[in-house]
Amino acid sequence: MRERLALSRPKEASSGKTGSWRTFRPVVDKEACNACGLCAQYCPDAAIDEELNIDLDYCKGCGICANECPKQAIAMVREER
Ligand code: SF4
Ligand code: SF4
Repeated sequence: MRERLALSRPKEASSGKTGSWRTFRPVVDKEACNACGLCAQYCPDAAIDEELNIDLDYCKGCGICANECPKQAIAMVREER
């Protein structure tokens, strides 16, 4: 059982959901991921939950999760327009 790490959850605030302006989205390679949870800890928008699902309604595409992943398991992929 994974320990709960994130203390906050994304929700609608004055800035609301991300909408369509995100340029890149994170895509996790489940084969490479070792479930360390670092991506969830570093995400500034708390968009990654305990099961390591990424909530794209709130992900801003900043790439911090991909940068911090020790397994290089997260690719930032350009959004289709
Ligand atoms: S790209 Fe940024 S906002 Fe999106 S899940 Fe990764 S760290 Fe969070
Ligand atoms: S930081 Fe990388 S290896 Fe760790 S849980 Fe996230 S995607 Fe998986």
